[in-house]
Amino acid sequence: MIRHKTRITRRSRYRQGELPREEGACRKDWGGRLPIVLIYPNSYYLGMSNLGIHAVYRLLNREDSVVCERAFQEGGNGEKKPAVLSVESRRRLTDFAVIAFSISYELDYFNVVSILKASRIPLRAVDRDERHPLVIAGGPCVAANPMPLSPFFDCLCIGEAEAILPKMLPVLEEGIGGRRDELLKTLASLPGVYVPRYNGRTVVRQRVANLDDFPVTSVILTPDTELGDLYLIEVQRGCNWSCRFCLVSTVFSPARFRSVGRLLETAAEGLKYRPRLGLVGPAVSDHPQLEELLTGLLRMGAKFAISSLRVNRLSDRILEAIARGGARTITIAPEAGSERLRQVIKKDIGEEDVRRVVEKAAGLGIKQLKLYFMVGLPSETDEDIEEIIRLTLESRAVLERKQSGTRLTLNVAPFVPKAGTPFQWLPMASLQTLNRRISRLKSVLPAKGIKVKSESPAWSQVQAVLARGDRSVAGVLESIEEVTLAGWRKAVEKCRLDADYYAHQRWDTGQALPWGIIDSGVKAGQLERGMEKAVG
Ligand code: SF4
Repeated sequence: MIRHKTRITRRSRYRQGELPREEGACRKDWGGRLPIVLIYPNSYYLGMSNLGIHAVYRLLNREDSVVCERAFQEGGNGEKKPAVLSVESRRRLTDFAVIAFSISYELDYFNVVSILKASRIPLRAVDRDERHPLVIAGGPCVAANPMPLSPFFDCLCIGEAEAILPKMLPVLEEGIGGRRDELLKTLASLPGVYVPRYNGRTVVRQRVANLDDFPVTSVILTPDTELGDLYLIEVQRGCNWSCRFCLVSTVFSPARFRSVGRLLETAAEGLKYRPRLGLVGPAVSDHPQLEELLTGLLRMGAKFAISSLRVNRLSDRILEAIARGGARTITIAPEAGSERLRQVIKKDIGEEDVRRVVEKAAGLGIKQLKLYFMVGLPSETDEDIEEIIRLTLESRAVLERKQSGTRLTLNVAPFVPKAGTPFQWLPMASLQTLNRRISRLKSVLPAKGIKVKSESPAWSQVQAVLARGDRSVAGVLESIEEVTLAGWRKAVEKCRLDADYYAHQRWDTGQALPWGIIDSGVKAGQLERGMEKAVG
């Protein structure tokens, strides 16, 4: 699944106004080309580790008729944000014909609003015309539920850029400079494009069939990013495990893998730039030829890190290969402590699998073991939290017995219901329950030498409102004066938004969903059956 740390804006080492230390950026002459600025609405530090940014940057700049530059939101929380400038030519956003946001995380919606406001671009699409840049967006959050952002965008891309852009670019090239309403009407007729002003129709999510047709790797290399020592390679998209809380298995499905041959070719190229590779995907260990891939990488002398492993897919041979590839950390995501709750969420891994991988990792000299859990899952009780404690302490006992020196870290995140998943109708737990359960974990485990990191329940509640929100949530985003919890509450009150309805109420399966216009390819009946099997 996609995991994010709660952050509104993460500080970068790169500051706007300086040139970042990077290689591979594309600087084109603007003459006669369609200028597009691709914005990651958070810091350069975070954005440059997002493969989606690299992929779209490559796709756009390979067109001779387009010049694509990047922009990020710098400045810490609460700081007055300056107008954003593009990295490549230091131009203002209003100098571009198209402003394209790539949005991966709901809490970045605040930055979307502040970026447009600071650039003096009318926030609502209805207030813009031919004199303004066309403002568009894509990314996982938009594909799941574009509604809270929909008043701000001229159009939103529902699905994968590789599938949508080839049809969209000629329309933009033809229509920019002409009448805006004509351009929007034409965009609204394209597959996967949602134009809030004109669409009443269902928008079908777009995806590519064969990943090998579209390389997705680091395009620009910089040390000033989270994963700056790695050359990133996308191995997989989508996931077939169907965990009931997870967006990946519905919004990005089905699972697709790059071929081993293509991955090894890409790896050989990447090793010219970095000695370590980052293999990226929601469940990389599902690759049907994982062993062959890892053996091939080891033969090349590559060091590598893998973003996600399912313990029930890890044979001893694969774990050994991962260790020989220089992995320092292994991350396991049981998500729930008890077998019962793992069945509820359909996280199909057993305690035996966890134990076996911990035992093996300890013997392989892995420096850090991270365990990911969620709290507040549907039907969770205090006993389930005690089961997290038990499983964690058992894992620590294995590490101690092996005298491996492996550090154990627990990452805890509140469950947030996401649009397009079987749990989309279910409420998140109350703040009181979440705080109590996280406090229980923090009161027991650190005393035993286990580091516990947790996401903020209060910000997760905000995230839930944005994830299940409709157009009325846009009013709150628009009117917030200060992006703090107090600022959020003030704006919610001012707009008379019933935040409790979006975050904490169970919805009737018969009611219309805000994101009902999106056809993600998964039938509502299938989602409903999943939810009923879980909680009845
Ligand atoms: S294994 Fe489950 S949680 Fe992980 S990406 Fe797949 S569906 Fe999501």
